[in-house]
Amino acid sequence: MNGDVGLDRKVLAAVERLGRALRAARQQVATRHELSLLGLSVIETLAVARPRRVGDLAAELDVSQPTVSDAVATLDKRGLIARDRDPNDLRTTLVTLTSTGEVVAADIATELQPILRAESGTVAERATTLRVLLGEIARLQQAGVISVNRSCLTCRHYQPPAARARARCLLLDTALRDPDLRVDCGEHEPALR
Ligand code: SF4
Repeated sequence: MNGDVGLDRKVLAAVERLGRALRAARQQVATRHELSLLGLSVIETLAVARPRRVGDLAAELDVSQPTVSDAVATLDKRGLIARDRDPNDLRTTLVTLTSTGEVVAADIATELQPILRAESGTVAERATTLRVLLGEIARLQQAGVISVNRSCLTCRHYQPPAARARARCLLLDTALRDPDLRVDCGEHEPALR
């Protein structure tokens, strides 16, 4: 039996509560750095990997393009980000962190680290939780609630576990145990539907 409405609601209520608590903690860090919450998210997103187009940032952060453009302009005025032409498409602008922005990003990561450390349950329980939550994110993406999802469960390179075989990443040619599942993978390619 797969359905337990009461349990489902409690799980989602707990995730929502956790989300609110994390948001409050992130707001405190943002205020300390004189940033908006969105500005902090832009810095964190750019710190993870490659330069992004404004449109990509908007999709990733689930806000409109004008909203993220305003946040980017504010960060630009403070010298935290740079905007450069995309060498592959000169009509497009790419946003990156400046060296000052990288220092702020590192400070933010250090300040958030104690809050973002999950400590409840065993490692195996946390790994199962990760897989279940990624499944929920995939479901919400399918329902059109989330637009960008670069996790393993929605990747064309993900091979689900079979009878005796572990799940694998076919691109990286490696087994993917639950703790190895990626939430935001640079190599992610959407699975064909
Ligand atoms: S490419 Fe990345 S997202 Fe895709 S299965 Fe491999 S590790 Fe996961």
